[in-house]
Amino acid sequence: MFFITNNYKGFRGIGVIFSLRLSVLVGFFLVLSGCQTLQKVDRGLYQVAESVSERDRVTGRRSLSMADRRAQIQQGNAYVEKIIAQEKQKNRPINAGVNRAQYQRLVRVFDRIHRISHLKKERWQPLLIKRDSFNAFTTGGTYIVVHSKLMFDLKDDAELAAVIGHEIAHTVANHVYERQSHAQISALAGSNSARRSGYQAAFTHESEREADRIGILYTALAGYDPLAASRIWQRKYASEGNARALFHHDHPVNAERYKEAQAAGKAVLPYYRKGQINPRSAELLDNNVLWRKNNNEVAAGEGGGVAALLSTALGAYVQHQEAKGEELRQRQQASFVKSVESVLKVESTRKAGTHRLETRWRYAANGPVLKDVVIGLYLKRNGKIERYVDHVKGYIKPGQVFAARFEFPSHLKVDDLKKYGARLYLDDAQAAR
Ligand SMILES: [Zn+2]
Repeated sequence: MFFITNNYKGFRGIGVIFSLRLSVLVGFFLVLSGCQTLQKVDRGLYQVAESVSERDRVTGRRSLSMADRRAQIQQGNAYVEKIIAQEKQKNRPINAGVNRAQYQRLVRVFDRIHRISHLKKERWQPLLIKRDSFNAFTTGGTYIVVHSKLMFDLKDDAELAAVIGHEIAHTVANHVYERQSHAQISALAGSNSARRSGYQAAFTHESEREADRIGILYTALAGYDPLAASRIWQRKYASEGNARALFHHDHPVNAERYKEAQAAGKAVLPYYRKGQINPRSAELLDNNVLWRKNNNEVAAGEGGGVAALLSTALGAYVQHQEAKGEELRQRQQASFVKSVESVLKVESTRKAGTHRLETRWRYAANGPVLKDVVIGLYLKRNGKIERYVDHVKGYIKPGQVFAARFEFPSHLKVDDLKKYGARLYLDDAQAAR
């Protein structure tokens, strides 16, 4: 999903080189020995590897996958077709019925992204449904489902292209089934960490980063401004902070996503020709500034079976370590925010206008100097959570008093805050170095 970076690239690289070297060695040995039995064994091993994994369309690495593409499409599409049936049953419009102009816009932008994507040979279609939430998702089949509110909230076609690119990328990189297979195999192996929700969230988190990067390349190749994705996240960070109300997040927090999307967008900027599909798009999918596909796989019977199995195991292991590392990082940041929150005291709150609230805080600690402090306020109105944030400018030293101000929209008066059970909280903070 579109809601909720890139130091792991090197680590993966090592795994690939290691498995490649090993496979070359094994292959060499098998060919030299010319042993029929060994070749047969290797072919058998290759088939085993094929049945539990597939070659990643983006990196060429092997990743766990127990379902073949046809089964994936069937399962993924069945889910979406159920949504379509439900919408009809409840007399809710879909596609052009929701809004003709917005649906045409969706189809137009979708077509251009799909045409340069890794899955251009599959017949895909977008589905527009009427929902009051900012979201889009894929289920591993050949649909992309878009909520109507998203169409209205995005500023331009480039931003819509970024969302669509991200969603197609989830299926391209096989995230839906990778996670499913990973969970199945971890469960078989009796892994404890795989059962933790924090680990699951971290696993998803890494997939989100990958989908962001692939999606940003797509936007550039299709002729849409590749910096559009970073603008979406910049806006979200400004309006809702990092939304660290949850302990674990399965999507990177807004600030990180903004910075990483900006870096990736700048990197692929040379591929972008406004409004035009890059004529080299097919070759750039395999080899670009963000990744390089490994196209060499040793043939089955010549050591390819051993290599494929090793590569599958290594890939799964690296992913496992990445997810564990990310889980730890999230836990550390969450406990840091909690510890800061415990020494932040609200000194006063003051109504500064019908829709304006001013709060004063004291940082009563011997702790580190803080930066990027985001103070949040949330409440429940008509059964829905609403969140407001203020980004406190500059550094905050221990003992310092500072202000956080909230400007509410017309539907929310300061006098009604109590009625909606409003609560102040610390959304995020970093230790200044
Ligand atoms: Zn996503």
